[in-house]
Amino acid sequence: MLHRRAIQFASMADVIQPATSGRAKCRGCGRPIAAGELRFGESLPNPYGEGDAVYWLHLPCAACMRPEKLLPTLASSDAPIADPDWLREAAELGIQHRRLPRLSHAERSKSGRARCRSCREAIPGGVWRLALQMFEEGRFSPIGYLHVECAEAYLGTTSILDRIRRLTPDIDDAAAAEISELLEHQRPGPAVEEDAADGAAEGEAVAAPSAGPDVAKTRPLPEDTTRRVRES
Ligand SMILES: [Zn+2]
Ligand SMILES: [Zn+2]
Repeated sequence: MLHRRAIQFASMADVIQPATSGRAKCRGCGRPIAAGELRFGESLPNPYGEGDAVYWLHLPCAACMRPEKLLPTLASSDAPIADPDWLREAAELGIQHRRLPRLSHAERSKSGRARCRSCREAIPGGVWRLALQMFEEGRFSPIGYLHVECAEAYLGTTSILDRIRRLTPDIDDAAAAEISELLEHQRPGPAVEEDAADGAAEGEAVAAPSAGPDVAKTRPLPEDTTRRVRES
């Protein structure tokens, strides 16, 4: 017989509130959230037990990575948010382009082994690339990389330099100029979409259940293996 606790947990609402300590890390980018900084708390069913678990993100990370969840919380919050317009516009763009929330950050390619998730060609070592991740069951898992020149074909837009800078704080102006130049030279998309089933469901929610066809095909590239906590 299943042991059931007498208390039924009510579903908690998502919140925007200051971090009580500097110990929590952002679920989206993995960096610490400073004590006192406003953060977004997303409530999701606890995968390991009853009730909900709260997942904390920096506000810019939440706008970029969990737009459909941040937007209503942002609209109803009376917290003293520094740049609500930027957050709202970033979230709206992510809802408009449903793969855009997969963008994790920009980085220089460490090896020449990874293949671009859009065009499937190798990404040479030393060039700027876009790292992608997928949200499922309360976790973000790396799913590969894109040429910056394949942003339009895969993400649906090249208006991403400002979010790249927010998501990649160590990028300086010179690096941003290099990335901007690459964004202006987009490659045509692949003739056959790598995840056609996923592409067909144009209006589907970004937070679709993890068993979708797109996720089933998701395989980390060799470089990601050590960063992957567990296989889904
Ligand atoms: Zn973050
Ligand atoms: Zn490519």
